[in-house]
Amino acid sequence: MVTTQNSDDDHLKEECGVFGVFGHPEAAALVALGLHALQHRGQEAAGIVTYDGEQFHTHRGMGHVSDNFGSKEVIGQLTGHSALGHVRYATTGEVVLRNVQPLFADFEFGGLAICHNGNLTNSYHLRRQLVRRGSLFQSTSDTEVIIHLIATSLKSTVEERLVDALRQVEGAYSLGALSQDGLIGVRDPLGVRPLVLGRLGDAWVISSETCALDIIGGQFVRDIEPGEIVLIDRAGVHSSKPFPRAKQRFCIFEYIYFARPDSIVEGTNVYEVRKRIGAELARESHVPADIVIPVPDSGVPAAIGYAAESGVPFELGIVRSHYVGRTFIEPTEQIRHLGVKLKHNANKASLAGKRVILVDDSIVRGTTSTKIVEMVRNAGAREVHMRISSPPTSHSCFYGIATPERDKLLASRMDIAGMASFIGADSLAFISMDGLYRAMGLPRRDPAAPRFCDACFTGDYPIPLADHDAGKVSVQLSLLAETA
Ligand code: AMP
Repeated sequence: MVTTQNSDDDHLKEECGVFGVFGHPEAAALVALGLHALQHRGQEAAGIVTYDGEQFHTHRGMGHVSDNFGSKEVIGQLTGHSALGHVRYATTGEVVLRNVQPLFADFEFGGLAICHNGNLTNSYHLRRQLVRRGSLFQSTSDTEVIIHLIATSLKSTVEERLVDALRQVEGAYSLGALSQDGLIGVRDPLGVRPLVLGRLGDAWVISSETCALDIIGGQFVRDIEPGEIVLIDRAGVHSSKPFPRAKQRFCIFEYIYFARPDSIVEGTNVYEVRKRIGAELARESHVPADIVIPVPDSGVPAAIGYAAESGVPFELGIVRSHYVGRTFIEPTEQIRHLGVKLKHNANKASLAGKRVILVDDSIVRGTTSTKIVEMVRNAGAREVHMRISSPPTSHSCFYGIATPERDKLLASRMDIAGMASFIGADSLAFISMDGLYRAMGLPRRDPAAPRFCDACFTGDYPIPLADHDAGKVSVQLSLLAETA
């Protein structure tokens, strides 16, 4: 989901995880555990809605899952055999609690909770139409657009209304919904974001990633397919595909960075892919060196693959504190800088006098790489060669991964030699697009029909960007100002 941009913040905030359970007496506790395993997908707010056969219960709050759902009292109030939860990245401040998902609304057919992972690319347009027709918005989240589209739909069942709403929506979304009748999971027609179906005994589960099935001892059943709606009720799982068929364009950045390495995404283990990318990187751009070290944690699997392929020893030359969140997910530029220092420390004993190959997953603004290269040099490294397990991030993501605007992306401002000197490395290389596709088990990237969404590297956006093309990126704020 997307929220309004702040003036002091230069990136969109839309990273999320979805987890739902149907048919278990401890549904809320299971969802809290599932969300905990999805915490990497969004660390600033969490929410759970349950249904107990008569009424809905909800608890939502800013902060980590454990901050909000760590107590027996809270979980105890969330009674019912079905539950839906969400973790997200959010801005700070009171107003924003209204945006914490799942959003809940009372319709003529009863209550419905909704949350999603992804980003709608025409929500400004839809919202404007809805406001003109009299919809009163309570939040600035694009998920609420879906709620109003459901409310204004003339169809009769929840599922038909949801389909009606989603037919008007453009964007990437994996959505969870909880009604009196059951739990619903939907993926957008291109299947950009992940969503899987699982089981726990007789109960059914939907989850953004399989690592969250593991935490509750659940079984993976299958990926929910692109354009598929699964409706889970007492009779079981009902599947439909009401949208026009399209070729899948799964987000390749989920494999590179975003998903957890122990997840199986679209049939492929994320850790294995990351190691294969590292091996490709070694084949493409190896330089003589004494040690390969990762930027932990995200660079670790690729560095293992790189070291194995090149024969250069793998060392943990940088130690990461696990008590700070992801660097990127910090509210201001100053804090982001501080975050890098808080997070990483060089292990001088393993670096002094060495020629170092430093492996990380991506360069976005260049903040992390610049700090880390300096840190490794200060620890006595003789040479520092940076190897990146993604192609240069040259374009912003509008489909649900937080990225700065294009002019803040280092790769959109300079070529590789310029980037190398900016970050202070002796050499810099990125995996090639074809190398990345090879790591995914394909011979190369077919420009006529790419298998994945790789827009952040190519600018090839598979879903129209109506709001962006109309200059409406700070969607909700401008609209609120307009209608105030
Ligand atoms: P930067 O410091 O701006 O160049 O960002 C690069 C670092 O942020 C890398 O170490 C990545 O692991 C991490 N990163 C890349 N993309 C994201 C994202 N969308 N959210 C959070 N962290 C990210």
